[in-house]
Amino acid sequence: MPGMAQRVAQFGTTIFSEINALAREHGAVNLGQGAPDFDGPPPVLAAAVSAINGQLNQYAPGLGMPRLREAVALHAERFYGQRLDPATEVAITAGATEAMFAAILGLTDPGDEVIVFEPVYDSYVPNMIMAGVTPRYVTLRDPDWTFDPDELAAAFNERTRAIIINTPHNPTGKIYSRDELQIIAELCQKHDVIAITDEVYEHITYDGATHNRMATLPGMAERTLTISSLGKTFSVTGWKIGWVMGPRGLVEGVNGAHQFITFAVASPLQAAAAAALSLPSTYFEELQATFQAKRDFLMGALKAAGFKVLKPQGAYFVMIDWRGAKGVPASVQDDVQFARWLITEVGVACIPPSAFYREADKHLAHHLARFAVCKKDETLQAAAERLRRLA
Ligand code: PMP
Ligand code: GLN
Repeated sequence: MPGMAQRVAQFGTTIFSEINALAREHGAVNLGQGAPDFDGPPPVLAAAVSAINGQLNQYAPGLGMPRLREAVALHAERFYGQRLDPATEVAITAGATEAMFAAILGLTDPGDEVIVFEPVYDSYVPNMIMAGVTPRYVTLRDPDWTFDPDELAAAFNERTRAIIINTPHNPTGKIYSRDELQIIAELCQKHDVIAITDEVYEHITYDGATHNRMATLPGMAERTLTISSLGKTFSVTGWKIGWVMGPRGLVEGVNGAHQFITFAVASPLQAAAAAALSLPSTYFEELQATFQAKRDFLMGALKAAGFKVLKPQGAYFVMIDWRGAKGVPASVQDDVQFARWLITEVGVACIPPSAFYREADKHLAHHLARFAVCKKDETLQAAAERLRRLA
């Protein structure tokens, strides 16, 4: 019987699809997948509609619509003082997801090694496997998710081509400090390695924390490919508009792959993305305040349910350590069992973070659970009510 290739047979189903299905089946309040249950800003939605009505419905240039590349460059300068030539140093992709895959395909060769920090966002390693690249893991340790600089230094060798840094980090909410980025930057320069950064949560930060951009560290502009996307910042995760920014040579590498993956991405949504990135600073401030309130509320609800909360500095999620919480039955032994129990018995869906660890390290997440903050206040309240029964 014809069927699946070995290349993908090893991957299984993504945890997000699995949890969504289980949550639907049990009518659980879904704080699993990081997708807002509210819409993006009306002017941005209107810009998409008017682009469709304005006949922007044919292929965009492969690198992206000029007006969006310009808006991406202006946004980088406005928030980080980063200077980019929109003609050669920006390319538009189908979300950060395609950006990462195209970056790995376009900037590494089979047999190369790429360093990742674990927990690692679930698409990176499958991307590497499809590209014939070997992942090297460096562990972020809870509760503060720091790494051991010696462990990191030991992960570099003559086969290392790149290191991937996701900040603010999914699932932990860690924001890499400038000092931590500096340690990574020095190793990149010493070993002639490129940094690929996934900064999709750049505008979701808490308690006044600032997001640090690797590309702005001394000596890093020429060896960093920065990835971001529209979905989180403008609450339109379904649009899948992303971009890469960096030196011409790296962007050309990404485009070498991108031109034969998607070639170009949705024109009307690119036009709307340009409008979104040009919104005034008040938009970004209000977004931050909205998310701060949601995070604080969810942290409170999880604490009230008896869980130890690992306070996130940024991104869409709150992680908890549920060990010792009174409401959890003794039969629940790991994070997958916890998530199943919470969905079926309490009616709240979360993600088991072991999905972000390789097989040998899954035990590091057995006591954890990840809850999404990016939900309407009434959704969070409904979850809080159900969680309250555990207290
Ligand atoms: N990177 C990280 C760290 C994410 O959490 C997500 C998804 N939510 C993505 C990439 C995917 O981004 P996009 O939807 O733009 O492809
Ligand atoms: N990034 C989202 C999360 O971590 C999920 C995106 C996806 O479903 N691939 O929840």
